[in-house]
Amino acid sequence: MFFSKGQEDALVQDGESRGKAQAVKRDAQLATCLLLVVFVSVLAATFWQIASARQRALAEIETHNRNLAQTLDTYAEGVLTQSSMLLLGMAERLEVEGVTSGHLQRMQQLVNRQTHLLNQLNELLVLDARGQWLMSSRGAFPPGSNSADRSFFLHHRDSPSQDVLIGPPIRSRSTGEWVLTVSRRFEDRQGRFAGVIVVALGMEHFLDLFGKIDIGKQGVIALATASGQLLVRHPFREQNLGQDFSRSPNFLRYYAGLKSGTASFRSGIDGTERLYAFRSNDRYPIFTTVAQGKHEALGTWRRQTLLTAGVVLSLLAAIAVIGWRLIRTIGLRVRAEASLLAAREKLLKANRQLEQLAIQDPLTHLANRRHFDEVLEREARRAAREETPLVLLLVDLDHFKGFNDSYGHVAGDECLKAVSRQLALCAQRPGDLAARYGGEELGIILPNTTLEGAMHVARLLQERIQDLDIAHRASPFGCVTVSIGVASLHTEQGPLSPVQLVEAADRALYRAKAAGRNRAER
Ligand code: GH3
Ligand code: MG
Ligand code: MG
Repeated sequence: MFFSKGQEDALVQDGESRGKAQAVKRDAQLATCLLLVVFVSVLAATFWQIASARQRALAEIETHNRNLAQTLDTYAEGVLTQSSMLLLGMAERLEVEGVTSGHLQRMQQLVNRQTHLLNQLNELLVLDARGQWLMSSRGAFPPGSNSADRSFFLHHRDSPSQDVLIGPPIRSRSTGEWVLTVSRRFEDRQGRFAGVIVVALGMEHFLDLFGKIDIGKQGVIALATASGQLLVRHPFREQNLGQDFSRSPNFLRYYAGLKSGTASFRSGIDGTERLYAFRSNDRYPIFTTVAQGKHEALGTWRRQTLLTAGVVLSLLAAIAVIGWRLIRTIGLRVRAEASLLAAREKLLKANRQLEQLAIQDPLTHLANRRHFDEVLEREARRAAREETPLVLLLVDLDHFKGFNDSYGHVAGDECLKAVSRQLALCAQRPGDLAARYGGEELGIILPNTTLEGAMHVARLLQERIQDLDIAHRASPFGCVTVSIGVASLHTEQGPLSPVQLVEAADRALYRAKAAGRNRAER
């Protein structure tokens, strides 16, 4: 199959626009991929930044709490050391000098002189072996005052240990205030239990100090014994004072047996989740806890996170809108290109059909007279220029008028079509052209074919038509036959013009008719 120059151009352009449409589609896919990559990476980076900021905030809070616990532990240790020294000095004097009223009076004066050295001192009491008050640093006390029921008294009475005891918080019987007790036993000269000396430390001093430290609204500072008994807690909650946490899951899990540490858990007292840091004292069986409400402590981080999330989400929304519009534009372009392509293909098809119709005879589907003339003109020029052979066959149906008369015009048309098909079969080489010259006269242009070769083709055609065996009662042959005139472009006088070539073939055809028809002449 051969394409005209116009058809080839159209096909090239066809390929180009198809490639262009594919490129545009690729652009849209790339833009979508790019958007996805931007989205995922921005989200991942933001998430990572937020998560690490949270980690940093928690670490900062932990360090702050640890330092504070350490400092308060040192403070508590100082107070207890002072109290212990006071107790030791007093016990030694009592053991050496006895509990005479004169001596006790001197001791009271001595203690009063020292009270400014220990601000936290609420009262110092000396009890005899039955718990009766012998001396109070506060001076006079109601007669018959007794503390034999206090747990610290029972402890020292029953235990020979000379160590100081840090007791649970109690309400002072002198002042009615909450106090912590640090106590020690003393003995008589025979080494028997002679009584107890108690230093009562005012709880409000601890609460004052703890209250000045900024640990937020949900923060807690607490002092407890190593065995899990709460001594002081800020904020103050009377119902929890002296409470025993030794069996609480949080105490067993995070505090028991450790020197220091941090933890995050929900408080058993008020149900608030806090970040805890604690420190056990090296010298005394107490530990200090500092805790901040987790929600409150992460407040700054949360505000920053909301701000970051807001900015990032707005940015992503802007990118999404721009990206969506971009992809939509590309999509519109893809669709426009596709419909253009389809329209173009339709047009090309219509053009091809038109071109075909312009050069084709509608009845026989052979080339029409106009195309025959063009090709003959072109081939004749080429053959003359290149000195290559060119032969023309003019084919005329014998007694065709009689055929029409006998079988009708429609049958005549069918016959003409059948004969034409044989012509088309004989003109199969590239450059060959079978055409309807006019009426029932047909022609075949055979470039690069010698006269002998053409005669061979003519006879073959003649035989094939006869072999069709189309009945023709008006013909002496009884079937449809053709006469063929064959002429070559090249003559001894030189190449003929296209018109001369047709005339020569026509003359040969006339000779074939005259010689009795159903034959080929040259
Ligand atoms: P011969 O060529 O053998 O001398 O006799 P003929 O009867 O074929 O004579 P001529 O060539 O003069 O007649 C041509 C006839 O062909 C006249 C016309 O009716 C018929 N014819 C021409 N074109 C067509 C066509 O398209 N269809 C049909 N059915 N007949 C056609
Ligand atoms: Mg005829
Ligand atoms: Mg004729």
